[in-house]
Amino acid sequence: MIPLPGVYRSARLLALPLLLLLPAPACADARGGPSRPDPSRPADRPAFNADRAWAYLTDQVAFGPRYAGAPGHARQLRWMTDFFASVHADSVRVQPFTHVAGDGKTLRMSNVFARFQADNPERILLVAHWDTRVFADRASDARGRRLPVPGANDGASGVALIMEIAQGLNAAPPPVGVDVLLTDGEDYGPGEGDMYLGSRWFADHLPAGYRPRYALVLDMVADPDARFEVEERSRRAAPEAVARVWDLAREMGYGDAFPTTSAGEIDDDHVPLIRAGIPAVEIIDLDFGPGNAYWHSPDDLPRNASRETLRTVGEVVAELIYRGG
Ligand SMILES: [Zn+2]
Repeated sequence: MIPLPGVYRSARLLALPLLLLLPAPACADARGGPSRPDPSRPADRPAFNADRAWAYLTDQVAFGPRYAGAPGHARQLRWMTDFFASVHADSVRVQPFTHVAGDGKTLRMSNVFARFQADNPERILLVAHWDTRVFADRASDARGRRLPVPGANDGASGVALIMEIAQGLNAAPPPVGVDVLLTDGEDYGPGEGDMYLGSRWFADHLPAGYRPRYALVLDMVADPDARFEVEERSRRAAPEAVARVWDLAREMGYGDAFPTTSAGEIDDDHVPLIRAGIPAVEIIDLDFGPGNAYWHSPDDLPRNASRETLRTVGEVVAELIYRGG
């Protein structure tokens, strides 16, 4: 993820009362089908097990760095596909693709795309990147800048959260179909020409007729000092979904973690999806550690990440899904 220079810092200062004026989503299917559950009522759903989510996070970090070509990359790919088969997704697809990076290297990468209730026309798409950055280019010293990013927060956290929710999707089906896209090459870099590669590939190869109601992109969702402001491209492309997420977080008592202030514009996996016509919402906490010192650094470790933040975001996303999206 990259905050756009200039926009980010200045836009953070603006508090936008943007959400309350938006129309509430309709309860009944527009084609006269059966009513969805009342989105204003708490859902009867599996609890979000933050301990298990945390274990998924630490498992990923234990694989080692997870960029194309690293041994941990192959290990994690196998682990993810085994996982989605074990929780009985309707389908699990590995989407292999190659990318020639700016340095001339040909990279072999893979998205993982898993579907639950594949026949349900009402769908939402959950997205997280599973790769980690090759070099910690924001480390405070030269030695650190040659090290890979462990990616506890930037990589593993979003995947862990989605896996914990996916655990229950077959056993306790929510009112909407759910697709999971775990992208590769989001963070390869160092420049943006070699980033967001898996989401770009997916946007260029959408399944025929694929029209999820919206996508939620989860990135850096385990910062101990949780603060998920509203990202501006998301607000423009998916205002109703943004309102749903932030209103629900406030209703659930997580308003401090989900302030309605602006995060400015951020480049991330949601942008290619939006360009492909999928309304997409980026849920991200840009400030990781004191002065953002842990972002793209060797300190992006489980000891600097938070099980409680994973729980907060996981509860909001699970509640959203089980209320019908
Ligand atoms: Zn990153």
